[in-house]
Amino acid sequence: MKAPKRSQASNPAAVARRFFSPSPEKAIRAVCEGRLAAYLSREAIDEIYSAFHFAEQAHRGQVRRTGEHYIHHPIEVADTLAELQMDSRSIIAALLHDVIEDTQASKEDIVELFGEDVALLVDGVSKIGQIQFDSKEQAEAENFRKMLMAMSKDVRVMIIKLADRLHNMRTLEVMEPAKQRRISKQTLEIYAPIAERLGLYHWARELQDLCFRYLYPKRHHAISKAIKQREGNRKLIVEKLKNSIQETLDQSHLDEFSVYGRRKTVFSIYKKMVEKRRSFSELHDIYGFRIIVPKVDDCYRVLGLIHNAYKPIPGRFADYVAIPKANGYQSLHTVVFGPLGDNIEVQIRTLEMDHVAESGVAAHWIYKSGNVDTQTSNDLARQWLLDLLDPAHHAGSPLEFLEHLKTDLYPDEVYVFTPKGDIKKMPRGSTALDFAFAVHTDVGMHCTGARINKSLASLPTVLHNGDRVEIITAKVSWPNTAWLNYAVTAKARTSIRNFLKQQTEEDALKFGKRLLAGATKQRLFGRKRINKSVQNALLKELQLETWSDLLIDVGLGHRLPDMVARQIAQLSDIDNSEGKILGQEALVIRGSEGLLITYSRCCHPIPGDPILGTFTAGHGLVVHTSDCPNITELKKQPERCLMVDWDEKLDKYFPVKLKVKLRHSLGAFAEVATVIAENESNINHVDSQEGSDSLLQIDFVIDVKDRVHLAQIVKAIRHKPSVAKVERKKG
Ligand code: MN
Repeated sequence: MKAPKRSQASNPAAVARRFFSPSPEKAIRAVCEGRLAAYLSREAIDEIYSAFHFAEQAHRGQVRRTGEHYIHHPIEVADTLAELQMDSRSIIAALLHDVIEDTQASKEDIVELFGEDVALLVDGVSKIGQIQFDSKEQAEAENFRKMLMAMSKDVRVMIIKLADRLHNMRTLEVMEPAKQRRISKQTLEIYAPIAERLGLYHWARELQDLCFRYLYPKRHHAISKAIKQREGNRKLIVEKLKNSIQETLDQSHLDEFSVYGRRKTVFSIYKKMVEKRRSFSELHDIYGFRIIVPKVDDCYRVLGLIHNAYKPIPGRFADYVAIPKANGYQSLHTVVFGPLGDNIEVQIRTLEMDHVAESGVAAHWIYKSGNVDTQTSNDLARQWLLDLLDPAHHAGSPLEFLEHLKTDLYPDEVYVFTPKGDIKKMPRGSTALDFAFAVHTDVGMHCTGARINKSLASLPTVLHNGDRVEIITAKVSWPNTAWLNYAVTAKARTSIRNFLKQQTEEDALKFGKRLLAGATKQRLFGRKRINKSVQNALLKELQLETWSDLLIDVGLGHRLPDMVARQIAQLSDIDNSEGKILGQEALVIRGSEGLLITYSRCCHPIPGDPILGTFTAGHGLVVHTSDCPNITELKKQPERCLMVDWDEKLDKYFPVKLKVKLRHSLGAFAEVATVIAENESNINHVDSQEGSDSLLQIDFVIDVKDRVHLAQIVKAIRHKPSVAKVERKKG
């Protein structure tokens, strides 16, 4: 919740406004019976009145800094939208646009009273309002604009937000200078460009001009003054131009045209001065003229007349009628040498072209209700909007565009914030883990979790537009294979894969060394050192580069240690005929072998069980219980078997299977589960089936430390009266 807007304005203008502004009822009536009545039905207007009453009630007691009742702000916003002839849903949303954020009313209230679509619009506007923006460099501002557009899924959300901002800018004079500058900077960098891209040039120009006034008051003042001094000229030129066109048109039987003399805004003149490094007096084309004609071919006829009367400046003519701009803008542009020696910009267009040029996206609502077929107009509008916002965005079908203009314009991207407020662009579907790697590889390598919008979240959490993400790291944390399941970005995946590969290779190297040492000891009568020349000869024979490569191969189970040992013995001229082989020493399982040892899922060996290691192609060393029926065949190939034993100090949990038969009784299962938990074990998997003996059979896979631990659990389960039978299951 924002601070309540109760601050009483103390400046005289504000006080005056408070006393002289019309009552809210009068204000809304003026809008409804004026602009809205011109294009909306009675029913729609009645609903707008009820939205007003709801908002007025909700904001009651709140006073704007300008001194007026707060409700005047939403009314003004609604009126601005009425100028564009926006649909009634947008007008209602405009009246309600601050109630979620600033009053007791909730989104649910709005859904109930005004429907889901209005609620979505209001909610969208509120969400954009919540985004914090600290001024950043250009590239950042561009991403910010894209994020806002993506967040306002329905383009009307953005149009309402722009109208809101426009009114706030128009009444900015009551704020302190620091706040004026901050808001102006944000508006100039973010909102004015969005208005421009939506084709709302009218708003964009006004926003820019207001911003310029607050950001550079002195320059603004100086330029305005200079413009005023030339104001007399403008009227003169308009008169002359109008007359001379009139004269020519009279001769060519053309009537119904209008000429507007258009002064460029202070801001655009300032921009031109900066760009061209000229002083104001050196600027020639500060006036523009617009001629509105009835029909398309009139455009060219009038152009011919103008060029006849005034000398055109070479290279300044552009035909956007024949070749419209990507955003649908159509007009003829030319610059002529004017009657008073000034360069004069002239735009010639039809009324419809003028609407599109001034109201951009909003013009499509106007023409939607007019004679243009709705479907076509919508498709055009959507395509136009896409082109407008991103020229590269030509793919995709314009089909499912019926209800309103959805601006899911960046379907492949989400924009999220770092804790410092920087923006990161991520592929859609990216998770907190991806974000960690996007911040920095080191952050990714050590991340353990995240805080998203200040609440704790796990690494697989998918990110949404506008999320503020903070990554929690720990020095002792490293990537694991599971991370690959929810890392989307190439950067994260590559980093994780590289790490895992390197990690596995390091483990494999160590493990291979142990395996080979055991095997050579047995074959070579305890001689551990292997001659350099023997090493080289063997590598050549096996077509390997380095000794480490060989050890890694052995560790990964690609080569059998005993076979390699036998080859070494041969190359070293050591007699390793069967009789001379030493008894095998068991390889001790330390629990640090990582992925290199697999514990068979058929017999689930646990510490304390007699075990046997087997080499299976592609699986490395697999450990079974010695009595596992699945290894009877393998036992006949001694080179594929390895004696293994448990390290006494193993501190790990291993899965084991239990078969429990329960007499049917309510809560029996829960009882068993509780016993397991009480004995510091964890249930991995449960399967149940109805036995023929009318007992319920449940298969558990639980984690235990060793046989002692297992025995303790089995005993505790057996103790329960509902348990008929419990036993370990193998194979
Ligand atoms: Mn507002």
